[in-house]
Amino acid sequence: MKFEELGLAEPLLRAIEAQGYDAPTPIQSAAIPPVLEGRDVLGCAQTGTGKTAAFALPILQRLRRAECHVNGRGRKIRTLILAPTRELTLQIGESFQAYGRYTKIRCMTIFGGVNQSPQVRALNGGVDIVVATPGRLLDLMQQGFVDLSHVEVLVLDEADRMLDMGFIHDLRRIVATVPKKRQTLLFSATLPAAIRQLAAQWLDHPVDVQVGPQSTTVAAIRQSVFFVDKANKLRLLTHWLHKTAWQRTLVFTRTKHGADKIAKSLARAGIEADAFHSNKSQSARQRVLLRFKSPRPLVLVATDIAARGLDIDMISHVVNFDLPMDAENYVHRVGRTGRAGADGAAVSFCDHSERATLQAIQRLTRQTIPVESPPAELAATQSEPARTSAKRPQAARTSHARPGASSSTASAKRPYFKGKFPHSKTPRRFGRAGSARAL
Ligand code: AMP
Repeated sequence: MKFEELGLAEPLLRAIEAQGYDAPTPIQSAAIPPVLEGRDVLGCAQTGTGKTAAFALPILQRLRRAECHVNGRGRKIRTLILAPTRELTLQIGESFQAYGRYTKIRCMTIFGGVNQSPQVRALNGGVDIVVATPGRLLDLMQQGFVDLSHVEVLVLDEADRMLDMGFIHDLRRIVATVPKKRQTLLFSATLPAAIRQLAAQWLDHPVDVQVGPQSTTVAAIRQSVFFVDKANKLRLLTHWLHKTAWQRTLVFTRTKHGADKIAKSLARAGIEADAFHSNKSQSARQRVLLRFKSPRPLVLVATDIAARGLDIDMISHVVNFDLPMDAENYVHRVGRTGRAGADGAAVSFCDHSERATLQAIQRLTRQTIPVESPPAELAATQSEPARTSAKRPQAARTSHARPGASSSTASAKRPYFKGKFPHSKTPRRFGRAGSARAL
């Protein structure tokens, strides 16, 4: 399928071309038509397969219809996108800016940890699209700076995270001020059954777009696990970094303190590393990410605030120093590599106390993660776990059949990136626009 066949307007097609995209990805082919029709959509596809454009492009198309008639302050917020982290909010804003560069649609981002004045000024100037984290948005709403009474489209990105206990109360308060008659779009790579049920309350006769087997990792990510005692994890990490040809590597830990400690230890061992977690100021977070995106090999030791949505070029490895508390987060963490058709690898360090979690991950992702042996002196002293063999992955399903919509089983073959990244070790990535200012 071609982007032209999706009925997108010329300025959007031009922007897509400028991004270097040849063809829509399966989630884009499947989700763009129902979103353009004004239907509610529950969209699920593996990490790094183009979900942002799957909702951003049809939203821009919809808003374009009226863009020329209203100037400046007369503009009302007509689309609200909610995301769980500040960095993801910025990234989505940048995507809207890139895809909407040849339109007059204005987009802004709202998130905490920074001075609110520029955000208030942008709101007062009139915007069409707001991408926000719930906390700061509520804050500005309470101060009377945000009017959501004209919102036509509501998007929850990383929907299962937005609907879980951490966000649901804020979300309810925000959505209570959005018109009931609206289009609602929910997207994620993982949508557990309980969350799907909860999501049903927010959606009106939704089109269920699912591309690829649910909650699975893309085949491009080589995965392995080391069984190791907790006390030896740091030594194993240092050893692994010394013997592996890593580029940009993301190490996940469960705690902020752990992230700081590991980053310091690596630095002492001569490995350039930074910590990234929510105790850092927003400016420090942005500085650290910028450094991480620089060309030289660097290790970022992060908590789960980096697990979702972040699209950083050429992360060669993800290391789960600690396994995540819930299995879904494993899918998101390892999904920071192997994006847009690139290769990647994920290794997990599993101590005795984490073996049940590992089994839950294997059940969810329907795979048996190959075991690697650490050096003899670092091998786990606790007994080997009973191997659970995961069920075979289900066939892909797109429950909403429509002509031309792809229900690819073949994310492993990455057909939509085939022409673009013939040598997937050196993926060609596309420049992002600068900061998420108004378009
Ligand atoms: P997302 O899943 O939205 O974070 O997108 C993952 C990556 O795929 C981003 O770097 C996008 O720029 C890229 N991408 C999205 N759509 C396409 C496409 N149709 N062709 C090639 N790359 C794409």
